[in-house]
Formats: sequence, C-alpha cells, structure tokens
Amino acid sequence: MLELNAISKTFDSKQVLRAVSLSVAEGEIVTLLGPSGCGKSTLLQIIAGLMQPDAGDVQWDNQPLVSVPPHLRNFGLMFQDYALFPHKSVAENVAFGLKTAKKTAVEQKTRITEMLQLVGLSGFEDRDVNTLSGGEQQRVALARSLAPQPKLLMLDEPLGALDRALRETLLDELRQILRSLGQTTIYVTHDQEEAFAISDRMLIMNAGEIVQAGPPQHVYATPNSEFTARFLGFSNVFSGVVSGDGVQTDFAELAVDTALLTGAVTKVLIRPEQAQLSDSTGIPGVVTDVSFRGATTRLRIDANGAHLDFELIDLPDIAVGDDVRIVPSKVQVIAN
Ligand code: ADP
Ligand code: MG
Repeated sequence: MLELNAISKTFDSKQVLRAVSLSVAEGEIVTLLGPSGCGKSTLLQIIAGLMQPDAGDVQWDNQPLVSVPPHLRNFGLMFQDYALFPHKSVAENVAFGLKTAKKTAVEQKTRITEMLQLVGLSGFEDRDVNTLSGGEQQRVALARSLAPQPKLLMLDEPLGALDRALRETLLDELRQILRSLGQTTIYVTHDQEEAFAISDRMLIMNAGEIVQAGPPQHVYATPNSEFTARFLGFSNVFSGVVSGDGVQTDFAELAVDTALLTGAVTKVLIRPEQAQLSDSTGIPGVVTDVSFRGATTRLRIDANGAHLDFELIDLPDIAVGDDVRIVPSKVQVIAN
C-alpha cells in the first residue's frame, strides 16, 4: 500500500532523514520506535504531505503522491496533544473530517454515533470537550481521525501525555479498535513497551535511519546492534574477542554461537532473564544491588569492574556484598 523509497531530509545542514525506505501493507500496524529527535515526526509529516522530502518518493498503491495535496491523500494524523477544537462539542470535533469530505448532515450524524460507540463514548455528542478528562479527549481525537475512514492512520506519540495506568488501558483499547477495523496504521513512539504491545512490525530508528525491522518478538529476541539492544532496555552489552567457541570479555569467557573468526572484536549481549546462580561455574562477581520487582528480582553484580544486571525468579536469600557465580544461558553476538 504505502511505499517510501530513499527519503532524505536536511534542516539547516543537519540531515534528519537518511535514505529511509519502508513499506506498509494493507491492514498492518507498523510502529516507528526511536529516541526523541531521530526523525520520526518529520517522516510522518512527509507521508502526510505536510512537508516535502529533499530526495526520495512516497507512493500509495504504486502511484506517486508527490503532487497530491495533504487533504486529498485521505490519511489521518493524530498527535500527542490531540489538538481538539476547544469550546466545541464532541460531535462537532468528530464531524471535522466528515465536513471536509462533504458528507450530508444525516451521514455525519450516523457516523458520529458509530465512532463514539467504537471509542466507548456513546452519548457524549453534546459535551464540551473542555469538560472531558485526558483519556476521554484522547478517545475523541481518535474518533475524529477515524471518522473519515482514512486509508492510512498515523499516530504520533498518541499516549505520551497520559499517565501510566491510563496509557495501558488506552493502548489495549486502541489495539482492539485498530484490529477490529483492519486499519492500516503507522504508530510512532519512543516507548518500547507500547511498540511491543501494538505492532505487527516494528521499525527501530536511530539518527534518521531505520536500523532494524521485524515483528516485535523477533526484534526483542535478536537485537542486531548495541543501539537497538540498549534502546530496548538491555544493559548487559560488552566488548570481547572471539576465541575458540566463545567470546573472551574482561570478566569471563562466554560460550556463544558465532560465525566470526577467532580474534575478531565484537559486542555481546548477555540476556538478563536467562541465567542462574551456580556454586562452582559461571561468571564470578560481587552483588552490588538487589531489587525486588514483583515477578522477578533484579540482581546487579560487579564482575571484574563490569556491571551486569540479571532479572531472576526464585532467587535465594542474597545480600549486597555476597560473592556469587552466575551462569548465563543465553549470550548473543550483536555486532562486530
Ligand atoms: P522525533 O519525532 O523523532 O522526536 P523530529 O522528526 O521531530 O524527531 O525531529 C528530528 C530533528 O529534526 C530534530 O533535531 C529537530 O530539531 C529537527 N527538526 C524537525 N523539524 C524541523 C524544522 N521544521 N526545522 C528545523 N529543524 C527541524
Ligand atoms: Mg516527534
């Protein structure tokens, strides 16, 4: 459906997008996940037609979009701050795109009722949007962007302004709504948990480039770079040298499967959740922190100056200062 080919954009001699290519299939929910400033919103503006790329092209159904103005693309765009029209009713807000699409009053009314039902706000038609809670306003914004049945919906950090509990509830609702409609969607966020929960496919962005793409389970299981690993919250990334059937780091020789040749310098990721304490083997270290997290306990050790974090279940009594040995059962080579 949507196809971007080598999109580049420079602002004031700073290159913000570097030959970004991506495609989105019909009904697919794709997330753009990356740190603040990496170019996510710029990319959305280009897709929406609100900004022109310096190079590259945007196509829909194999047709170039460059000369199609934003209002004729029939793409929906929703931002973090909802930008609802203040002092207008819920119905007037939801009707916005329907008026632009020249729907009759009867069509508008029917569609508004449907949309409010979809987002769980039936009967809210006449409420002033200023009297709504943040979560309700967010639902109105969603209803407004879905009302004209956009071919593509783009959500730019839609839950960013909400507190954590509300974010989780709305994320579940959003996922169900988008799935039930089969809505083709690009979802932009800097929050990896949001991206995991909502995407069919995740695109990891760094400094204007897509550095990894795939289903969330796959990206989580096999980050392909130190950047992705750290961005997904993995801190156990270390340099080492390939030696025999493993990688030698400053603190241990780790068993790893790798095609790299002996002597190659590489980075390894020690998965924090796949490890166990041992009496005799494993990485020797001193416990520097023990932190109860509910389902797991986080254990930090100092191993010859390196800090390693583990998320373990069923941890025996352990205290700061104890000498331990930990056997990691999953170590991955992530870069060379
Ligand atoms: P993100 O949405 O990933 O946080 P943006 O796409 O908003 O990132 O911005 C990427 C970079 O481009 C930032 O450094 C930002 O300051 C810069 N930028 C964005 N829009 C403009 C603009 N209109 N003029 C100049 N610089 C801009
Ligand atoms: Mg942004």
